[in-house]
Amino acid sequence: MILPIVAYGSPVLRTVAKEITPDYPNLEKLIADMWETLYASNGVGLAAPQINKDIRLFVVDSIQLFANQDEEDKGKYADEPGFKKVFINAKIKECNGEPWPYSEGCLSIPKIREDVTRPATVTIEYDDENFIHHTDTFIGITARIIQHEYDHIEGKLFIDYLTPFKRKLLKGKLADITNGKIKVDYKMSFPK
Ligand code: ZN
Repeated sequence: MILPIVAYGSPVLRTVAKEITPDYPNLEKLIADMWETLYASNGVGLAAPQINKDIRLFVVDSIQLFANQDEEDKGKYADEPGFKKVFINAKIKECNGEPWPYSEGCLSIPKIREDVTRPATVTIEYDDENFIHHTDTFIGITARIIQHEYDHIEGKLFIDYLTPFKRKLLKGKLADITNGKIKVDYKMSFPK
């Protein structure tokens, strides 16, 4: 089932999400719905707060991104061809490496893309969908997507990294998103 993606301005996007246990109701269905929602919106990552659940769960599929990238960008990222993973109760242990800028977007903040500088690698502890515990280090574009999705379960958004000046310039566009004055080709729910 495709779920509506909550828009910027919704309180759940500013909530620090809670850990879950294996007996969380209908978790398997929820994860399946998140994948379906992600693909329906052509995203590469989706966090539970974006579908109005304040739990520490996000899904990442960087294979899609590499499959769709321009010919000239092929081989540019060390983590090609990417991967598909579920992250439950994730906790970032450390971020390392030379910070680099990349033009980020977010399904909850449609039609805005801005350069965000983030560290090159991320070491993260998490459970997979079977509640098997992992500690892994990720690089490249995958490390970036993970940091972006992780921010969602901490109540943070990529626009928080922008300068006050840049944010001021985006104020009108952000208000339009909150007020539902935006056209997107996927299902969204607006706070007002
Ligand atoms: Zn996002």
